[in-house]
Amino acid sequence: MKKLQDRIRQDGVALNDRVLKVDSFLNHQVDSALTMEIGQAFAAEFKDERVTKVLTIEASGIHFALATGAALGVPFIYAKKKKAVTLTEDLYTTSVHSFTRGETFTVSVSKRYLSAEDRVLIVDDFLATGDALLGLQEIVRQSGAHLVGIGAVVEKSFQEGRGKLEATGVRIHSLARIQSMSPEHIEFLEEEAV
Ligand code: 5GP
Repeated sequence: MKKLQDRIRQDGVALNDRVLKVDSFLNHQVDSALTMEIGQAFAAEFKDERVTKVLTIEASGIHFALATGAALGVPFIYAKKKKAVTLTEDLYTTSVHSFTRGETFTVSVSKRYLSAEDRVLIVDDFLATGDALLGLQEIVRQSGAHLVGIGAVVEKSFQEGRGKLEATGVRIHSLARIQSMSPEHIEFLEEEAV
């Protein structure tokens, strides 16, 4: 997505060769119009997949899942990062290690909202180590739903996440794929014409 790549070049800040700050337009202050376009881009990519639910993880995936769900005309679900103290038998749960926070936490989704009848599109802000998305994939597996694909807004292609997800055979669509970065320069893997 050319517009997203341009915006990352303009307003993204590579703190070093691994961490990209995008909190002026993607994950703290949020560009609402760009977020809606991101949702439309994911919806267009997966339009033939009869998606019934969009799934993400709190907090920084929520607005992208909302935009995608709105574009597809389906609900979205955000996995919660802390297991509820009661009713654990009513939850699909798995543990996820956070790249940015350096800690492991439990993510959960109520069994009420995901079932074997569903066709799920997973959406998140970043594909880095892939752990968050693998955790969401595990939640979908537990529910028996069909996973139609994964949409990542920003993929850091130099990290291991894409390879780990590809190994599971899932379809992955990333809107901006960063090949390498430094505080001076961000290089994308595929420059898009539009
Ligand atoms: P994972 O390593 O599991 O693929 O990424 C987990 C989460 O860490 C992402 O959803 C995202 O919120 C955060 N994250 C990973 N890499 C970056 C980064 O370079 N910049 C920012 N702002 N967040 C990141």
